[in-house]
Amino acid sequence: MRVFGRLAATIWKLCSLGATSSDPDQLRLSKAILTLTALIIAFLAIFWGLLYVLIGYPLSGAIPLSYAGISFVSILIFFISKRFVFFRFSQLLLILLLPFLLMWSLGGFANGSVVMVWAFFTPLAAMIFGDRVQMTRWLFAFIALTLLSGLIDPYLQPLAKPMSEGFNTVFFVMNMGVGFVSIYLVLMSFVTDRETSHRLAIEAKNVAETAQVKLQEANRQLQANEARIRELMLTDPLTGVANRRHLEERLRELIANLNRYGNSLTMVMADIDHFKMINDNFGHDIGDHVIKSFAKAMQDTIRDVDFIARIGGEEFLLLLPETDISEAGALVDRIRTVFAKLDIPGANQAVTASFGIAQAKKGETGHECMKRADLALYDSKEHGRNRVSFSD
Ligand code: GH3
Ligand code: MG
Ligand code: MG
Repeated sequence: MRVFGRLAATIWKLCSLGATSSDPDQLRLSKAILTLTALIIAFLAIFWGLLYVLIGYPLSGAIPLSYAGISFVSILIFFISKRFVFFRFSQLLLILLLPFLLMWSLGGFANGSVVMVWAFFTPLAAMIFGDRVQMTRWLFAFIALTLLSGLIDPYLQPLAKPMSEGFNTVFFVMNMGVGFVSIYLVLMSFVTDRETSHRLAIEAKNVAETAQVKLQEANRQLQANEARIRELMLTDPLTGVANRRHLEERLRELIANLNRYGNSLTMVMADIDHFKMINDNFGHDIGDHVIKSFAKAMQDTIRDVDFIARIGGEEFLLLLPETDISEAGALVDRIRTVFAKLDIPGANQAVTASFGIAQAKKGETGHECMKRADLALYDSKEHGRNRVSFSD
């Protein structure tokens, strides 16, 4: 078993002598297969030729023997020059001519047409090792030689020396056998080739589709991350309302709308009363809870278009678009009442907040208006807290 393995490896190495190191795998395989085929046919031809000589047909024997000689030379030239195109052409030409020459030497169609089954091998092999155009050319060569055989057939027949019935049968079986096996092998290799390409194409398509899906998923993830990062950048972590950065963005938009379209905008500055005391009496955690409750009370009361931002420890700013100062006053008073009534767990006293309201004027900056709302808030603090004051 091991001896056969080593022999096979040696033969394969020999057949690969025509390949160069830069050849792609597919080409290496093509070269090795054609070399192997040429070697097998050459040895068969020697056997064929000797058989003819033995049974008294030296002319018919000389043809396969010469064929084998020329074929070996062509293989040798290929090994040295590495010229595959030349090798392929010479081999196809030899294998096309061999059956015709043999048939002619046997006296034409009547005695020798059975060897022509070999000649079919050439156009088929041309398709495997070349392409459709080459196959057509070799097919035309085959047809031309067949026509030529028809023309010279009458002159060949008298030269024929009839072969005995037994040898006729032997050669018929041998020619048919080898001829059809060759054709079968060539077609098999063609079909295998096609199946491989088909499979590779499907695999490549699958790989591409998987990559596309992964890319889309990564893209979605990236967009989700970006959205999350933006949200984190613009949100106050304790209360979940907007932070100062987000406020600046929204303020710019609303002030621009006020100046361009005359849309009204009212601002409310809100601050929890005596918050330091809440922290001191009940602890920082309860203080945090109060801040969150205050934010929630405001958020639950304002409309969707309104905007709330935490701008300090327990200080908030409300932006109320399309709202005049009296509407804002009513809204803020609702917030004040709700918050003052709120039961804060852990704190045994009511918590209140003070508010300052200012309506933005055309030409005024956002910060100028905020300053006026802050002054109004200061007024509320001055006048006893838990109240709402208006700028101007
Ligand atoms: P006023 O009625 O005049 O507003 O009195 P006040 O005690 O609320 O005074 P002030 O606004 O100066 O106090 C704010 C306090 O809020 C000071 C600080 O220790 C506390 N504080 C700031 N940020 C936080 C926070 O995130 N959590 C808690 N629990 N306390 C905070
Ligand atoms: Mg305060
Ligand atoms: Mg404060």
